[in-house]
Amino acid sequence: MTAVSAQQITDRIHQVQLSLPPAVTLIAVTKLLPAEVIRIAYAAGLRHFGESRVQEAIEKQAQLSDLSDITWHLIGHLQTNKVRKAVEHFQWIHSVDSLKLAEKLNQAALGLPRSPQCCLQVKLVPDPPKTGFSPAELEAALPRLDQLDQLNIRGLMAIPPQAASQDTIRQVFAGAKELGDRINQAGLTRLHIDQLSMGMSGDYPLALAAGATMIRLGTTLFGPRPQ
Ligand SMILES: *Cc1c(COP(=O)(O)O)cnc(C)c1O
Repeated sequence: MTAVSAQQITDRIHQVQLSLPPAVTLIAVTKLLPAEVIRIAYAAGLRHFGESRVQEAIEKQAQLSDLSDITWHLIGHLQTNKVRKAVEHFQWIHSVDSLKLAEKLNQAALGLPRSPQCCLQVKLVPDPPKTGFSPAELEAALPRLDQLDQLNIRGLMAIPPQAASQDTIRQVFAGAKELGDRINQAGLTRLHIDQLSMGMSGDYPLALAAGATMIRLGTTLFGPRPQ
């Protein structure tokens, strides 16, 4: 099922939890892992789970419908044709990476019993393979984003480029923190950043040092993912 046993997963979760400041949310990233792994992590006390693909998550959610207090986080790029399903199946969407996607999400959320919680995905250093707002694009989009009244835009998600140096990683996380502070001083009406979704298995201590409030861990908890 995974490279590590249920007992090891449980131990790792408890170890990481003990090392985290109480206000930080640990999101277990379970993409490519079966629903039984989510049950193990749930039994160890976790309630926040991150998935990269809408369809894969829906299939696992159907198998876990008895675990009704899970909060589901979408952390992968969202295609606009899956927006409706995304807002129905996830409480949080971390990967809002364009104004166009935000507008589609806002439309799709009309009439839902609860508004989606959103993070804006930002690129603090150039990273061609990834989507996301550059700081300049984001600042230009803020007045419009602030009007999307079906969304709760609460955070920024920052991911350092693959194989980035420690210095670049620090620069990305510090840049996200500063950008969030700047947005909060821009005199907006609704949009307020109180979450920084940053930190994965390879870099979460640096993210915590920079002020992360949500870390997204897969490999650290579950070992290497199946291909
Ligand atoms: C896969 C993934 C993670 C978890 O990665 P690990 O290195 O296994 O902790 C976190 N965030 C995003 C956006 C991911 O796609």
